[in-house]
Amino acid sequence: RIASGETEFALGYTEPQAGSDLSALNLRAEDKGDYFLLNGNKLFNTSCHIADCHWLACRTDFDVAKHKGVSMMIVDLKSPGITISPMITMAGWQTNEVVYEDVRVPKENLVGEKNKGFYYLMAALDFERMFPLGRYRRVFDELVEYTKETIVDGKTLSKDPLIRQKLAQLSTEIEVTRLLYYQLAHILDKGGIPNYQSSMEKTFATECAQRIVNLGMDILGLYGQIKEGSKWAQLKGKVEKFYRTSIVETIYAGTSEIQRNIIAQRGLGLPR
Ligand SMILES: Cc1cc2nc3c(=O)[nH]c(=O)nc-3n(C[C@H](O)[C@H](O)[C@H](O)COP(=O)(O)OP(=O)(O)OC[C@H]3O[C@@H](n4cnc5c(N)ncnc54)[C@H](O)[C@@H]3O)c2cc1C
Repeated sequence: RIASGETEFALGYTEPQAGSDLSALNLRAEDKGDYFLLNGNKLFNTSCHIADCHWLACRTDFDVAKHKGVSMMIVDLKSPGITISPMITMAGWQTNEVVYEDVRVPKENLVGEKNKGFYYLMAALDFERMFPLGRYRRVFDELVEYTKETIVDGKTLSKDPLIRQKLAQLSTEIEVTRLLYYQLAHILDKGGIPNYQSSMEKTFATECAQRIVNLGMDILGLYGQIKEGSKWAQLKGKVEKFYRTSIVETIYAGTSEIQRNIIAQRGLGLPR
């Protein structure tokens, strides 16, 4: 039902004090016999305002090591006691603060085993981190065409040696991203779960996306900053828009620094 779009889920991990370090999450779920009673705050929980269910990480045990007291639950976002408030990012996307006040969640909504949630959530993040570069690659393709058509000082931009060097470099990086993505597909095809490989792909792809739009800003000059809808906008304002989205994409699902920590620890076996 999730895959067919019948049911929309929103991810409920981050809290004011728990972003990069999710083991610090504190939303309390008290066992009340046939239900859990939930109290606490979530932050940056995207799509909660339109979703049916919250895929929620909460604390069910305060007396064990932090990562051992976390459970996953599926919560109906229409439950009494849930308040959702918008947070608008520089990308223009709405994410949310979600407050739980004495929210009752039936026991059958617990996912898997109690207190094993941290492991489920880490595996879910490995999937979430697979980052498709497609929409940025299309911006790149349009930029290439733009340089072929745009004449500055009597010659097309595509003849400028600096622009050619930068476009050639980026086309190589886009190809590398595609191959990193294929590696993830290969791992999935074999029935595995990509781990540090997702972190490699996400970091490289999201930072490549930033390099694409940065080059777009250089090539378009001041036109690059003009929004879609203006008569002066070039490439339908895509460089302006994707410049903003590319920044938040190196943050959600774990920042680039956290991805590099994962690559260092799980990929290279370096100490924590
Ligand atoms: C647009 C957007 C959508 C989001 N959607 C969701 C969502 O749907 N559900 C959800 O649960 N969360 C969501 N998030 C939250 C996101 O996952 C967190 O913002 C992110 O994990 C970083 O956490 P933080 O903001 O608390 O930053 P912090 O953890 O406070 O980090 C601050 C800075 O310190 C650095 N840092 C922290 N720890 C380390 C370390 N050990 N080593 C090196 N550097 C470190 C970070 O890289 C960062 O630069 C979203 C965020 C954004 C921006």
